[in-house]
Amino acid sequence: MTTLIYSHPACFEHRPGPGHPESPERLKAVLSALQTPEFAALKWQDAPLGTREQVELIHTPAYIEEVTEVAPRSGYAPLDGGDTVMSPGSWEAVMRCVGAACAGVDAVMKNKASNVFCATRPCGHHATPSRAMGFCIFNQAAIAAAYARDFYNLERVAVIDFDVHHGNGTQDAFYKQPELFYASSHQSPLYPGTGSRTETGISHNIVNVPLPPGCESALFRSRIEAAMLPAIRAFNPQLMIISAGFDAHELDPLAGLNLEDDDFRWITEELVKIADTSCKGRIVSTLEGGYSLQGLASGTAEHVRVLMNA
Ligand SMILES: [Zn+2]
Repeated sequence: MTTLIYSHPACFEHRPGPGHPESPERLKAVLSALQTPEFAALKWQDAPLGTREQVELIHTPAYIEEVTEVAPRSGYAPLDGGDTVMSPGSWEAVMRCVGAACAGVDAVMKNKASNVFCATRPCGHHATPSRAMGFCIFNQAAIAAAYARDFYNLERVAVIDFDVHHGNGTQDAFYKQPELFYASSHQSPLYPGTGSRTETGISHNIVNVPLPPGCESALFRSRIEAAMLPAIRAFNPQLMIISAGFDAHELDPLAGLNLEDDDFRWITEELVKIADTSCKGRIVSTLEGGYSLQGLASGTAEHVRVLMNA
């Protein structure tokens, strides 16, 4: 068994407009990084389309209706006042994101892959149950967690999010659901402004690790070791989903943390160790942010290299 990569050409066709940082070029950079000889052992599959039933595990019917109505036949249509924009290809792209994450759950639960990386876009972790936000339309990481709980009867599913932004949408969706755990490291202050340590969920199932602007490797690792890893171990997940954003990279133009490629290797190794102990290594990782094409490509390569050798 090896690492399974889900991707789909439709994910290039979500086009939020010229100059938008969440561009199709991002996916091109990720795929180029993973198509070098070093990664020849990866197994690739087309991401299936997600289903409305899967989306409804997290999002309200009214919001899903809104997304279908806003989706344009030509040009662009804003969903949340400008940050999150739909183009004619956006609906299929987001449904491929949802389908990839849920198929990833199927693959690891049925022992068809040791772990999964979803090379899909757009990102999802800012999308709340009822609202698009921050480039995100549907929240594929949260949907995959709820899908695993409902269809595999899991009692403890964890989403770990190292994107530089707080995944307010995932936190909102999980806040009162003790079987779903969310841990996030993120720059603070920064968009979207949530993610303080005092936001702990109904049963300490939410763990926020805010990091100051300028934070470098040493501080990042010590905060993760002190505040995040013990909480994940204590939750003892039966499945781990990773919201893998690479915008905490020092090259990223949208944020101010100074992580290096090796930090993405390090945190992935730490998460793999916990998954090996708690859930037979079952990890489904899904791409979130990362807006320096170079930082995104090298960070993703570090992350997937660890998954591939796990
Ligand atoms: Zn981000």
